[in-house]
Amino acid sequence: MTLPLPHPALTAVDPELAALVGEEELLQAGTLRMIPSENYVSRAVLEASGTVLQNKYSEGYAGRRYYEGQQVIDQVERLAVARAKALFGVEHANVQPYSGSPANLAVYLAFAEPGDTVMGMALPMGGHLTHGWGVSATGKWFRGVQYGVRHDTGLIDFDEVRDLALKERPKLIFCGGTALPRTIDFAAFAEIAREAGAVLVADVAHIAGLIAGGAHPSPVPHADVISTTTHKTLRGPRGAMLMSREEYAKPIDKAVFPGLQGGPHNQTTAGIAVALHEAAQPSFRDYAHAVVANARALADALLERGFDLVSGGTDNHLILIDLTSKDVPGKVAAKALDRAGIVVNYNTVPYDPRKPFDPSGVRIGTPSLTSRGLGMEHMAQVAEWIDRGVAAGRSGDEASLSRIRDEVAALMSKHPAPGLPA
Ligand SMILES: *Cc1c(COP(=O)(O)O)cnc(C)c1O
Repeated sequence: MTLPLPHPALTAVDPELAALVGEEELLQAGTLRMIPSENYVSRAVLEASGTVLQNKYSEGYAGRRYYEGQQVIDQVERLAVARAKALFGVEHANVQPYSGSPANLAVYLAFAEPGDTVMGMALPMGGHLTHGWGVSATGKWFRGVQYGVRHDTGLIDFDEVRDLALKERPKLIFCGGTALPRTIDFAAFAEIAREAGAVLVADVAHIAGLIAGGAHPSPVPHADVISTTTHKTLRGPRGAMLMSREEYAKPIDKAVFPGLQGGPHNQTTAGIAVALHEAAQPSFRDYAHAVVANARALADALLERGFDLVSGGTDNHLILIDLTSKDVPGKVAAKALDRAGIVVNYNTVPYDPRKPFDPSGVRIGTPSLTSRGLGMEHMAQVAEWIDRGVAAGRSGDEASLSRIRDEVAALMSKHPAPGLPA
C-alpha cells in the first residue's frame, strides 16, 4: 500500500476534505513527530473507531440505558471496561469521558462543590489547565491553589505540597501533569492527601501507556481516583477513562452521566477496547520500556551537546529543554524544527522569565518515534538534528533546515508508522 491511503467513498463525496486527509497522512508519515502527548494508533484502532457504532445513542451504562437497541453496544462497553480493569488492576472503570478535560471536570462534579478549594500543580510548572488553573473553568468555579517544583532541582517539593495542603485543606489534590520529566511519587502524594483529608486524583494522561507497560510505577493503590486520556502513550483513540476503587464508582459514574455528558461516543469506546487489548500484549511492555530507554538516550545525547534539561534529564517519555543558554526563544526553535521536519511544541519552563505565549523551552518526547521502531541507536542522530535545527533557527539558515528535513524524511521512509503503511 502506498500513501496517501485510499479513501474511496470520501474521495467521491468530498474530494477537498479527502485531499486534506491525504496531506495529513503524508505529514505524519514523513516527519519526526516528537510532541510527547501524541502518538500513532494502529490500523485496528483506526478501523474500530470509524465504524457504524457511531450511529447509536446509548445514554446510561451497560444494562441501564435510556435507549433501546443496546444488544451490541452494551457488550462493547463491557469489554472496554473489563479490559481497563484488568490492565490497570482497578476495581472500577468508566470509559465514557469524551476526553481528558471533561474526565477531570467530572471528578470535580463528583467530589467538590463550586467555590471549594482544590489543589494542583501550576500550569507553568508542568501541571494541566484542568488542575485548577485560573483561565480554566476549574480555576474559575473552584478556588485553585497551586504547587510547583523547586527552582534548584526542577523536582516537586513535597514539604511545600504538604504545607499547602494542610493550610488550605483542599477537597481534591491533583498529581500528574503535562511537562513532568520525572517519576511521580504517588505514595508521597497519598500520604499528604490522607493527612489533609483530600481526595487524591492521579492524572496519568501522559504516562498511562508507561504504567500499563510496567515502565512507570502505578498509582494503584495510592490514588483515590485515576484519570487518564486514552490517546497519548496508551495509543488509543482520543478519549479518556476514570478509574477508582468500588467505593467511588457511583459518584464517578453519576458525574460523567448524567452530570456532565449525554450519550457516550460508542465508536471511541470500541477503539479504546482495541487499544487496551493491544496494551495487554507482551509487545506493549517492550514498547513502553523502549519509550523510556529512548528518552534517556536522547537526554544524554542532548546533554552532551550542551542543552539544559529541566531536572537534568528524564525518567519517562518526556524531555523539557530550557533554551535560555542557547540564546534562542522556544517558539523560534519550535518553528524552525517544524520546518526541519521535527514536530515539537514550545513550552514554559519552571520559573520562566518569558511569557507563556513566547516561553524559554521546547517539550519533546519519544512515544511516536518509538511506535515507528526507532531505537536507542537512533537517538544520537535525533539529538544532532535538534542541535543543528535549533542553531539554524537562531541564525535563520533555511537551507540547513531543509537539508535536515530531507534527512529526516529518508530515515522515516525506512520506519513505516503504525496505521500508515509506507
Ligand atoms: C492531555 C492532558 C489532559 C487533557 O486531555 P484532553 O483530551 O486534551 O482534554 C488532562 N490532563 C493531563 C495531565 C494531560 O496531559
